Amino acid sequence: MWISLVLGLVGTQLIVSAGEIPVPASSTTPLLTNAQQVLVLSLEAARQTFMPVRLQGLVTYPDAAEHIVYVQDFSAGIRVVYTNADYQPASGQMVVVEGTAAGGMFAPFIDCASVRIIGSGAIPEPCEAPAARMVAGEFFGQWVQVEGVVRDVAKDSEGALLFVSSGGLRFHAVIQPFPGMALPVDWLDARVALRGVCWTEVDAENKPTGFTLYVPGTNYLFVLRPGERDIFSQPALSMTRHPELRRQSDARVKVAGTVAFHSPSGYVYLAGEDSAVRARLLVPLARGKPQARYMERPPVTQLRPGERIELVGAPTASTFAPLLQDAEFRRIGDSPPPAPTPVSTGEVFEGKFDGRLVSLKARLFASETRQAGVLKHQVLVLQTGDTIFEALWEFAGTNALPVPPRNSYLRAAGICALQLGELNQIRSFRLLLRGPADLSLLGRPPWWEPLPAGKILTAILALAGVAFVWIWLLRRQVSQRTAELQAEIGERQRAQTELHHALAAERELSELRTRFVSMVSHEFRTPLGVILSAAENLDSYFERLKPEQRRSQLDNVIQATRQMAKVMENVLFIGRAEAGKLEFKPVALDLASFCTSLVGQVQSSTENKCPIRFQAGPLPAANGDESLLRHILTNLLTNAVKYSKNGAAIDFNLGRHDGEAVFRVQDHGIGIAAADQKQLFTAFHRGRNAGQVPGTGLGLVIVKRCVEVHRGQITYESAEGIGSTFTVTLPLFSGS
Ligand code: ADP
Repeated sequence: MWISLVLGLVGTQLIVSAGEIPVPASSTTPLLTNAQQVLVLSLEAARQTFMPVRLQGLVTYPDAAEHIVYVQDFSAGIRVVYTNADYQPASGQMVVVEGTAAGGMFAPFIDCASVRIIGSGAIPEPCEAPAARMVAGEFFGQWVQVEGVVRDVAKDSEGALLFVSSGGLRFHAVIQPFPGMALPVDWLDARVALRGVCWTEVDAENKPTGFTLYVPGTNYLFVLRPGERDIFSQPALSMTRHPELRRQSDARVKVAGTVAFHSPSGYVYLAGEDSAVRARLLVPLARGKPQARYMERPPVTQLRPGERIELVGAPTASTFAPLLQDAEFRRIGDSPPPAPTPVSTGEVFEGKFDGRLVSLKARLFASETRQAGVLKHQVLVLQTGDTIFEALWEFAGTNALPVPPRNSYLRAAGICALQLGELNQIRSFRLLLRGPADLSLLGRPPWWEPLPAGKILTAILALAGVAFVWIWLLRRQVSQRTAELQAEIGERQRAQTELHHALAAERELSELRTRFVSMVSHEFRTPLGVILSAAENLDSYFERLKPEQRRSQLDNVIQATRQMAKVMENVLFIGRAEAGKLEFKPVALDLASFCTSLVGQVQSSTENKCPIRFQAGPLPAANGDESLLRHILTNLLTNAVKYSKNGAAIDFNLGRHDGEAVFRVQDHGIGIAAADQKQLFTAFHRGRNAGQVPGTGLGLVIVKRCVEVHRGQITYESAEGIGSTFTVTLPLFSGS
């Protein structure tokens, strides 16, 4: 089965979970009733606490050999390891699952489950999942849809294995069941949509590295654009400044040109008139199973400089020489091998020689050999003028280059590979050597180099006297030049710091935008759904509904609209705060009765979910801004209730320390993970354990701004699974 070939990880997860002994929970442990409730548990909590789960959902992907099914309910998808031997899993079964929550290596799952079939149904609409987010570790176990172009296919009697490119990121898809042995050749290079369950691949440290999609049959593969029978039939694009070659695409395009170099690590460099194209050759699926069928492809043999080829490959986003990936080629003729263009380092740093065959005069500074996977890299460090650069010879086995003595003058020829910095600026460059002929010796090192150190010392002492006079004459000149250089260095450092600041600001802005979009899509989608469904009910059944049923639909609309208005209000408030437009209008206040009334309002708006125990010591009259205080305390109290279990008490204390009022809100709720605490006051950031609790990630930012306007301070202590205490200190009694 492809599963065992690609995966090999399920078993490991089972061993981990089987080794744990769950601690019996207190009698208050609630029954978990949907997949999302299991997924939001921390791995630690899921491993150490006994939490029963009972849910109903549809089987999306069965893996009978491993006793695993993926089940999708209304809230999410979840991996289920079942133990009842009589259960025959199949995709589309409506099942009831009873088991316990357990912590896998990457996400919580349901273990020791008994699965009962209660009917069948259609698998719900999948979640559109961009490959980049699945590569980053999201959507584990979820029923998703992803689009891409098929690069390679393999088939055995039970299923098919696909190698797919989506937005330039590559993944495997296992399609099972798919009986028969016919290789679906017409899928090759086709644009397809695939529906399946996402399995996150991880490295030794459990960091996500990619994903595999498990597709429960060919019904879930949709061909959006058929493949090409002959990938070379399309017209070739011109290699000179063709924008399509620099724009990322999964569809492969064709170019034709003369080979300048074919490297052992699978890169081909094509030389045009005054242009170049780089291509990384396709690495087809490994032919690991003797009984399986694979795509027939002619063997890739080493290309010689001068061979003319047609090459198809998928463009990636590139600034200088285009880079095509997953490339295949065919030979169309021969021409004289391209000759290197002599260049200066200045011309290289202008960028137009990236990927082209060039030559430079330089002095050999040092050389070393490094291991790079199965290949070795022999690196020559060369110097020309003020520029230091590397020439690289890639080889396998013992095929090292004969290296000339240190300090020799050389002419080095090779492919120019620009090394880019974070902002795509040219940092340095390398020459990729193609063989010993690319290095020609122009001069030997000076005669005194091979002499023993003692003789050199004597010669140096003799010269020292002469040098002393000379040095004295030069000294003034040197100190003048040093001052100039220092000024120049200072200037450069300043420019670099400014660049770093600009970059950090840009990054911060982009992260803010991402968090904002994710919050809006989450917080608006649910109330919009409620409004739409209530409006549709009223529209379709208005006459048949009883007055109280109409009332209830209208109440839903009002409630959802208020929720959206609240989100908008918070966003606008933050806008005003960031623009420095928050007003501070202090008035005389009786703090204790102000807080008592606020507690009542929070209790009623949270439908008395948790009792709030308010205590205040004796206090003098205070002076503060009522509206800002209301924002501070309502947000802290509402958070304490939101992130606590039903009925858990919240302690709200008000005291005095010199001229300052001290407000303390303590809960025994889910607490805040250490990793989230750093970003607690960052707009739109929500804790990873916040799960389905509604929220915008704005409340605490508002609190912080209001506290700052008050010239106060906010501190907190929190531990995940234990609870949180927020303390706000405000100078409200300074007049007394
Ligand atoms: P919101 O609650 O709307 O998400 P906040 O800015 O009020 O936004 O809080 C930011 C995040 O901090 C929350 O998403 C939650 O993860 C965490 N948080 C805040 N208060 C508490 C609390 N009392 N207990 C647990 N987590 C909390």
